[in-house]
Amino acid sequence: MQEWVQKLLAVQELDLRLDKLREQLKSVPEEQAKVARMLGADEAVLTQAKDGLKTIEKELKQFELEADGLRAKKADFLTKSAMIKSNEEYRAALHQVEQCDKHIADIEDRELAVMGRLEAARATVAAAAKRLEATKQRAKEMSADLDTRLGNSKAQIAKLEAERLPTLVGIDPGTIRRYERLRASPARINHPDHRALVPVRDGVCCDRCRMNLTAQTRMNTRKGMPVPCENCGTMLFHEG
Ligand SMILES: [Zn+2]
Repeated sequence: MQEWVQKLLAVQELDLRLDKLREQLKSVPEEQAKVARMLGADEAVLTQAKDGLKTIEKELKQFELEADGLRAKKADFLTKSAMIKSNEEYRAALHQVEQCDKHIADIEDRELAVMGRLEAARATVAAAAKRLEATKQRAKEMSADLDTRLGNSKAQIAKLEAERLPTLVGIDPGTIRRYERLRASPARINHPDHRALVPVRDGVCCDRCRMNLTAQTRMNTRKGMPVPCENCGTMLFHEG
């Protein structure tokens, strides 16, 4: 194998590892957003549960106020009835007292029904709060993992980038430029196979696109020339 091929393959090996690491870095913000969304959803559920509880508590408070008002009214009638002289007026006052009692009983019934909903609403708030706590813990762990991954990837990238420059030494600058251009082409970046330098497969075709090569191209690779694949443009080399 030609020396330039060995050297450029070593560069490509580093570049492919760098590609993977940069891919990983790119996915971090997306995953951080996912963690934030997860937390936000559980926070919204808790807020909603608390609002539901508040509404029920307000309803109960209203009933209590109404009942208190009626009790005061009843006490007032009772006080007045003690001073009444005529039977008719006395009966009327008693009737008012009975009406108050009826209303109070009615309110107390409705209060009981709401009390049942109050218990359920409290349980919902407690469950939502518990769930949010668990999610917070999970989010904390996930964020820590992501930070670790971010740090590790960055450190690895810096290390590989430092290794890359000395690896380029001794390769023809024109070949390096062609290799860099190939690597930078969007078609290659968006393709799962990022290689810019590949062997001639089984002596007949491009190892990347699998198209058969012309006799001229095959001959040039055997001579050690960095020729492109006629189909996909990838730089070829002869193995062996
Ligand atoms: Zn090809």
